[in-house]
Amino acid sequence: MQKSFVMLKPDAVLRRLTGKILTRFEERGLQILAAKMMIIPRAQAEEHYAEHQEKPFFGDLVEYITSGPVLAMVIEGDECISLIRKMVGATNPQEADLGTIRGDFAIQTGRNIVHASDSPASAEREIALFFQDDEICKYQLPDQELVYEEP
Ligand code: UDP
Repeated sequence: MQKSFVMLKPDAVLRRLTGKILTRFEERGLQILAAKMMIIPRAQAEEHYAEHQEKPFFGDLVEYITSGPVLAMVIEGDECISLIRKMVGATNPQEADLGTIRGDFAIQTGRNIVHASDSPASAEREIALFFQDDEICKYQLPDQELVYEEP
């Protein structure tokens, strides 16, 4: 099983899309291990997006991500990092396929409503940046043999 860090950005929260987006992850069969609403401190936002600090959009990105509450989550499932990236869609919502979260709910890159880890190394780093170990719930879903061949 793999864990991914997924974050509904302030535009998703303020547009009241959290329920709809969470439903997509749940209906897919994924398991939400942790979730918290928070306003990200600037230093934490800068660390989260450190790989982009030299990019021209970095300042706007940090403004955007700290502009309101986010819903930060840890989601678990088989190969879920790439699975969730597919569900999220292309970074530029104009290029995101219909049926993806960005393709269905967003229009511009700078307001693309959701973040999801892009690799196991990113997931590990991002989960540690947002969650303490004891905030991540360990529990068994009752339908795992219906979702997986070998639970
Ligand atoms: N972003 C932006 N302008 C750009 C590229 C990226 O505002 O030209 C923002 C956008 O919110 C994106 C985030 O920076 O989601 C991180 O960019 P990345 O390339 O890592 O895309 P992601 O992994 O989120 O699809």
